[in-house]
Amino acid sequence: MPPTKQRSSKIRKSSKTALRQKMASITAKRLSSNPSNVPSPASDQTPEPAQPATPADLPATQAETAASWNHDGTAGYMEICGAVTMWGRSLQHKMRYTQFVGDGDAKTIAAVNGRKFYGDVVVTKEECVNHVSKRLNAGLRKLVSSMSKQNVRLGGNKKGSLTAPKIGLLQSFYTTAVRTYNASTEVMSNAIWAAFYHSISTPDHPQHERCPAGEESWCFYQRALVKKPKDASEFNHEQSTFLNAEVAPHVYKVYERLTDSELLSRCLLGKTQNANESLHSVIWSKCPKHLFSGLARVQIGATIAVGEFNMGSQGSHLFFPAVGCPLTAVTTSLGQKRDKTRIRKADTAHEAPAKRRRELRKLAQQKAQQSATRAEGGPSYVPGGF
Ligand SMILES: [Zn+2]
Repeated sequence: MPPTKQRSSKIRKSSKTALRQKMASITAKRLSSNPSNVPSPASDQTPEPAQPATPADLPATQAETAASWNHDGTAGYMEICGAVTMWGRSLQHKMRYTQFVGDGDAKTIAAVNGRKFYGDVVVTKEECVNHVSKRLNAGLRKLVSSMSKQNVRLGGNKKGSLTAPKIGLLQSFYTTAVRTYNASTEVMSNAIWAAFYHSISTPDHPQHERCPAGEESWCFYQRALVKKPKDASEFNHEQSTFLNAEVAPHVYKVYERLTDSELLSRCLLGKTQNANESLHSVIWSKCPKHLFSGLARVQIGATIAVGEFNMGSQGSHLFFPAVGCPLTAVTTSLGQKRDKTRIRKADTAHEAPAKRRRELRKLAQQKAQQSATRAEGGPSYVPGGF
């Protein structure tokens, strides 16, 4: 007999309670083994003011505390330390990470190469394609903002102005060019510039030479050329990304910066951090980023998340019995149902109508954001602008 909603909810709650109790027990064990966290027999004496200490200063009896304290420095330095630890650990597993996919911070790769883990073999840095294309969006937004401070209005309702939805579309073209035209930096650069020149084209001065030719082209001009029109009036210049003559020179500078051959050469492999971000979102669902989590919680959360990310509910079903939380047949059945639902939703999300809905939703959000920004008298935050 299938469990009722109330019963399954109770079972889920009892599993969560058991896990919380287990985590509390682990934490309690850690605390009890740490003399600095339990009341001292001489607690009636006035305690000395706390002095800053380093893990090296701690006595051997406080090894547990030292084990929990695994970073000493700023949050930014944490990423560098983490990367150095991972690269150092790779040799223990008899493998080499020779490529590094990052999002622009050169300090981490410099620190890894500085340690010469693989002798003369240098770890190369690849750009995350998603992050590179976000730079176009951030750069164009910053441009609108900085020019408005100089009383040059690039945004607004004028035809060909640089609006938020248009920036979104230009970003989308840039992303497609970087992902699709990755045979060489020249091909990639040409595809990126094609979108720019397509956008600034007018009936009097069409600039579609770089746009792909043929009936299937995304460029209306090139599609029309196939039909051999008699004169230019048959071309309807109504680009959704049209940029007027006042805006174009400013946008050109941003494109020039983002078609740098060195930058594009790091995008040729078309790598993204999507898989990592996907795993991170599962970990954060166990240990929210905005709340403090102790080492035990992070370790347990990461362990369950990695299991679920790779094996679905089976991952957590292997974990719970291992820490003394037995599973019931109902828990297993609910997990399998959850997996099926997740796979069905993922399949639907990859279909064209769903993708189109997401694009429309994103454009609507950008329009709403632009209206709100205008109502507030200007942008208060620009991604990548600080
Ligand atoms: Zn064109």
